[in-house]
Amino acid sequence: MNITPESLYKILFKYFRSLNWWPKDLGYHKKTGSDPRFEVIVGAILTQNTAWSNVELALENLKREKLLDIKLISQLDLKSLKKMIRPTGYFNQKATRLKNIAEHLENKYSGNLDSFFDRNLNEIREELLSLNGVGPETADSILLYAGNHSIFVVDAYTKRLCKRLPMETKPEYYEIQDFFQKELSKIYKNNEISKIYNELHALIVIFAKTYCKTKPNCEDCPLKKFCKYASQLI
Ligand code: SF4
Repeated sequence: MNITPESLYKILFKYFRSLNWWPKDLGYHKKTGSDPRFEVIVGAILTQNTAWSNVELALENLKREKLLDIKLISQLDLKSLKKMIRPTGYFNQKATRLKNIAEHLENKYSGNLDSFFDRNLNEIREELLSLNGVGPETADSILLYAGNHSIFVVDAYTKRLCKRLPMETKPEYYEIQDFFQKELSKIYKNNEISKIYNELHALIVIFAKTYCKTKPNCEDCPLKKFCKYASQLI
């Protein structure tokens, strides 16, 4: 029996409820006058190839020094930035990427994220993808979680799920993205779709971390009855 993106969303939402992803420290941004959407952009770069708990350590370091801000990071010396984001690994590469994106936003948009995001989705996406170290997953996370644009984020967990569950898509980035977007937009209205993409990606991540791990924990899995992979394990 195939499972549709809508059923996947409904089952996971019933199981985990709303996850309110992506986390933003609104109190910090209110106090410092910085834009909370930049915290999402920073998180999207720093989370590449590392656990979120390491990203939290780096964000804490930046906040402690009151540096979680477009202009301040664009002006910060690389050595200090590397030191602060060290917990996330690949810190040489990530510091350069972070500074580069902050400089881009500062120089081209005067650090104004309304000017950056208030444009056609494809235009912003192309621009993000042209920046050093920004691939499809990072670009789409920024568009969805910082820009509130309607685009479904695909990551390694989503690909794994699409390999294990009977879904009518090849387990590749753009095939999965097109499939989820096409199916979900048949059900949900334009004004609610980015919220659905937002929730569903977060739900897939927590589900894959809890149950559908590399070595899956199928016993109590809420999707067990659909799963072709679980039946092969028996
Ligand atoms: S039954 Fe196992 S393999 Fe299938 S989705 Fe659940 S955890 Fe993953």
